[in-house]
Amino acid sequence: MGILTENDFEKTPVLKDIRDAKEVCWINPKFTDFTTAKAACDVTEADVEDAEERLKRCAPLIMECFPETKEAGGIIESPLKAVPKLQKLLGAKYGICEGKLLLKMDSHLAIAGSVKARGGIYEVLKHTEDLAIEAGIISGYEDDYTKIVSPKAREFFSKKLMQVGSTGNLGMSIGIMSAAIGYKAIVHMSADAKQWKKDLLRSRGVTVIEYEGDYGEAVKTGRKQSDENPDSYFVDDENSKNLFVGYAVSARRLKKQLDDMGIVVDADHPMFAYLPCGVGGAPGGIGYGLKLVFGDAVHFFFVEPTQAPCMLLGLASGKHSGICVQDVGLTGKTHADGLAVGRPSGFVGKVMEPMMSGEFTLDDWRIYDYMRDLQESENIFIEPSSAAAFQGPIFMKNAPSMQEYLKKHGLEDKLSDSIHIAWATGGNLVPPEVRSEFAKTYLK
Ligand SMILES: *Cc1c(COP(=O)(O)O)cnc(C)c1O
Repeated sequence: MGILTENDFEKTPVLKDIRDAKEVCWINPKFTDFTTAKAACDVTEADVEDAEERLKRCAPLIMECFPETKEAGGIIESPLKAVPKLQKLLGAKYGICEGKLLLKMDSHLAIAGSVKARGGIYEVLKHTEDLAIEAGIISGYEDDYTKIVSPKAREFFSKKLMQVGSTGNLGMSIGIMSAAIGYKAIVHMSADAKQWKKDLLRSRGVTVIEYEGDYGEAVKTGRKQSDENPDSYFVDDENSKNLFVGYAVSARRLKKQLDDMGIVVDADHPMFAYLPCGVGGAPGGIGYGLKLVFGDAVHFFFVEPTQAPCMLLGLASGKHSGICVQDVGLTGKTHADGLAVGRPSGFVGKVMEPMMSGEFTLDDWRIYDYMRDLQESENIFIEPSSAAAFQGPIFMKNAPSMQEYLKKHGLEDKLSDSIHIAWATGGNLVPPEVRSEFAKTYLK
């Protein structure tokens, strides 16, 4: 079929399961120790530290634009929360593995209400800082960054254009942040994007262009239009190192949160992290950041919908961004709008290849069930896409390939001392009427 031959499917049987839209638990055969993996990676620890410093420099600007961030000193960070009642409920319903289940609540990040508040806002700030220094709005890193939103600067930024292609949440983060600085902003939205996300952006003065096609098409058109205009900057989710390092900063902050909770992560107390994946930037950046901080003590897994497992397909076939889910006959269509991506980031896939432990896929009905499980047990709302993360602890217990992984890495008898982080990637901005629609959605 298309790019892959029957021989490819015979050689790598998981490709058949992917093609047949089965739920899979894939263990990455190229996974290796982090010292080796890191040597092959061209994003460095210094790049992540640089991003962290930039976010600190920009904190006064963030506070000026978004007063709700004042309490946190202009640092956009989310809570890490133990969810024992959910753990009990999931355990009773599906069986989940031992250890302590934690929820990383990027669903509640300030400004954008999703994980995109990390990468997206970071990239807008980085570009803004570059322009502001070049134009003499600020004299350098030591200057007062609130000058960036002075009336004179606003005039300057109003002539600049920021563009992005998005399934929804990235557009919201880039759009909201760009509008706050004063840029003209255009968001190219794929057909999967939810109406309320488009409405919210338009209410902030952002231009939303809608596409009949999928995310890849929205990105392609946006990139082309931006390239034709010297005053336009395109946030390129399929290739951006800036987004990636913006996401990676999360891990050092997570370390501090774990320290504050008295939770140790080391060889005898392993951490497992479950990261919902679209194009790969967010889970890739976070996964890489976690490895930098916790090394071989952390094992991270991506989670994708059975109809849009683009990163898994790219990795398992070795073709990365040279293949899309439609090439194996999948639709790319899923209720998990934030994960509705048909072709993965090639850049991220290559970085992930030696360090990602594996991937899970899940059917759409589960995301609503898991969302309700969390709501009922802990009274926390997250959007269905991000509830995909709970496939992690469930497959960890139930999938035979995972049992082999645990055995191979000597983890079987360490599970009772392990922690499991489900990365909740979005939800806080979802309007009440959409929440009640979700609550009533049963696909099975
Ligand atoms: C964007 C998004 C993801 C995944 O991020 P990618 O960078 O596209 O892989 C996960 N969950 C939600 C809710 C998202 O909006």
